[in-house]
Amino acid sequence: MDHLQQSRLNLLTSHALDRAALVRLDEENLGQRIMSENARFIGVHHLQIAIDEENSSAHPALLTRSEAQQRFGYCEPWVYLGREDSKDYFAVLLDNARPHQTRGFAGLRALAATVDGAKATLLAYARAMAAWHQRHLYCSRCGAQTVSQHGGHVRACTHASCGEQHYPRTDPAIIVLVEKGERALFGRKPEWPAHRYSTLAGFVEPGESAEQALVREVMEETGVEVLSAHYHSSQPWPFPGSLMLGYSAQAGSEEITLNDQELEHAFWLDRDEITSRMQQGLFVLPPPISISFRLIEDWFDRHSTIPLRKLRENTGATHF
Ligand SMILES: [Zn+2]
Repeated sequence: MDHLQQSRLNLLTSHALDRAALVRLDEENLGQRIMSENARFIGVHHLQIAIDEENSSAHPALLTRSEAQQRFGYCEPWVYLGREDSKDYFAVLLDNARPHQTRGFAGLRALAATVDGAKATLLAYARAMAAWHQRHLYCSRCGAQTVSQHGGHVRACTHASCGEQHYPRTDPAIIVLVEKGERALFGRKPEWPAHRYSTLAGFVEPGESAEQALVREVMEETGVEVLSAHYHSSQPWPFPGSLMLGYSAQAGSEEITLNDQELEHAFWLDRDEITSRMQQGLFVLPPPISISFRLIEDWFDRHSTIPLRKLRENTGATHF
């Protein structure tokens, strides 16, 4: 499978949305779209997404303009997200909403699992843009206020002698399944739920390639030497604005030393050990919406008679 196909299997990466980037530059066209019956609004309040209040289970609310105005009192400021199935989608930024307008919101992690891949992608995009706006109200060059432009995809400094334009940021991070022989390397952070383990990950630093970051992070976190690495796929991870670059890697050494204390525990496990630990509730996988799950799944299923997803269902370990 090539990298494009691999990436398409990751949640939050649906290709159904046309981002219509050129429309952002055309104010008249944007104005028509936002007034149209086909406009749909996703409310975001402190990075939580508005849910459908009619529905008993948490489901995102995709509101018409009049519904959004009725519920939130206004539809601005907004970010144009793009077009999908003849609908134009906008994120409404509600951080300054009055308290009575802020009921009925839920987190992306919970909502992403309840909708199809295309809608999950849209919600993740809305959340990432809201997070960027929230953190760029002031110019990082001169400190003056910024204003939203180009359909919410630029924040321009209002100081006449500065005029800096700020664009949405994405922070690259590597995430890697390290293997040696029949075993793979897993680690856990102290703040995670009990028995949750995952692949290793870390941010790419300035002046560093993704592959250098991978070798450095694995060494810092576990003391394990990486000999080779193969790119797998990528996934946006809007918590708040990362792009996860997924790899599998071959280790040259096995001894584990927790050098930077970022992990509280790391160990090597083969497939039988994972199966046994999952059955005892002693090994909880990362959520299936994550690229981490996909990296583990691809490795596990390569030499297993039972697929990892099936095993997860059978052991009842399906919580997030
Ligand atoms: Zn400025």
